[in-house]
Amino acid sequence: MSSTTNTTGNTGNTLKTATFACAWCGLTVSTFASDGARRNHCPSCLHSRHVADHVEGGPSACHGRMSPIAIAVLRTGDWMVVHRCVRCDELTSSPVCPDDNQLILMRVAVRPLAQPPFPLEAFGSL
Ligand SMILES: [Zn+2]
Ligand SMILES: [Zn+2]
Repeated sequence: MSSTTNTTGNTGNTLKTATFACAWCGLTVSTFASDGARRNHCPSCLHSRHVADHVEGGPSACHGRMSPIAIAVLRTGDWMVVHRCVRCDELTSSPVCPDDNQLILMRVAVRPLAQPPFPLEAFGSL
């Protein structure tokens, strides 16, 4: 009598949720952020993977790990994460997502100030 239970009509997983495993921390990351924006880096450690060829367009065969090396600020005030591929040294930039790890973002942003290549005492006499 319990014929209401539908066990055969389920055609499977029609909802396409693309994910990738972070090359650095192993986190499973959805390629779409909570606000629908496309995401290409891990929100936890900000590492990415070199899968798109940004010079010639299209997919890249490199697949190297891309480390976050700097923050760039757009004229709109938005932050971009600059990535460098550890295999081929290509540079890319991608927008910061709202759920990106803010501690890591700040650490990347202030890294040059923490390690100046010249003595900061010179500024004291200006
Ligand atoms: Zn990660
Ligand atoms: Zn690469």
